[in-house]
Amino acid sequence: MIDGKTRTCGLIGNPVEHTMSPAIHNTLADRRGHNLVYVPFLVEEGRVGDAIKGAYALNILGMNVTVPYKSEVMESLVEVDQLAAQIGAVNTLVRMDGGYKGYNTDMLGLYRAMTEDGVQIEGEEMILLGAGGAARAVAYLCASKGAAKVYMLNRTFDKAKTVAEEVNRAAEREVIVPMLLSDYGKLPDKRFLAIQGTSVGLAPHDEEVVIEDEAFYQKIHTGYDLIYRPFETRFMRMVRQAGGEAYNGLKMLLYQGIIAYELWNQVEITKEDAQAAYASMKEAMGI
Ligand code: NAP
Repeated sequence: MIDGKTRTCGLIGNPVEHTMSPAIHNTLADRRGHNLVYVPFLVEEGRVGDAIKGAYALNILGMNVTVPYKSEVMESLVEVDQLAAQIGAVNTLVRMDGGYKGYNTDMLGLYRAMTEDGVQIEGEEMILLGAGGAARAVAYLCASKGAAKVYMLNRTFDKAKTVAEEVNRAAEREVIVPMLLSDYGKLPDKRFLAIQGTSVGLAPHDEEVVIEDEAFYQKIHTGYDLIYRPFETRFMRMVRQAGGEAYNGLKMLLYQGIIAYELWNQVEITKEDAQAAYASMKEAMGI
């Protein structure tokens, strides 16, 4: 029940109508018996600074930030966590004295989803498809979690090269190897952990896939697609058809929310609570 002691958390972005975050956080609050409500806040272009000041003045406990404000919001924070600062994007704000501290729980969420699935990055040779915002963040994550090598394949080689130089400089080792997407045949002859970080295959383009050649999928023992709409992407199907394990990006989304909830409430969310939040998300998606 909402009463005089209810705490508020919320999401800022534009648009926010299709978010599944309320399903995650309100389910967790219910299960944990926290007097907390999570709501979406539509913020118009140019008003992010006002929104953050307003949120602080209104005693809002924590916020998530989505497209298109993940970078812009950083100017309005009192502190930014190191990984988020490297990535240059923040999706979670935690209230502290004088304002909010920014974190990137998208990447920590992907890492936790992978750990949950029994997949490790440390010591792995990996393939990373894409060099956009999401893939760049994944490159930082892989470097910071001890991947042995990450072949970053992108349609526009220069973008992969720029990201690789930047991440390698930060990591102080040559961990990211940029490659042209069409050069996938030059990958070493072995099986890799692969992360699909391009936007190819996103609904409604369900039948598209970034590499069509079945031979490429023979090189993948485990494939993660960051996309979760559709629930099974063509990339995932091709990995499975070649005998590999495949996962979508929905658990990444779930765990970015769970880590945010843990930061706001200083609690640890159990596997059972996570499963309940996952079920609520799927229901909200109509799966
Ligand atoms: P972005 O910055 O626009 O980057 C798009 C990437 O896709 C670039 O590498 C681009 O290559 C590549 N690409 C686009 N069309 C292509 C085509 N026809 N052929 C080959 N490559 C193509 O997008 P983003 O923000 O990184 O997002 C990427 C995906 O991650 C999206 O589908 C998004 O839904 C997903 N995502 C999921 C989560 C989650 O919580 N699960 C979180 C964040 C993002 P070029 O550089 O050559 O243009």
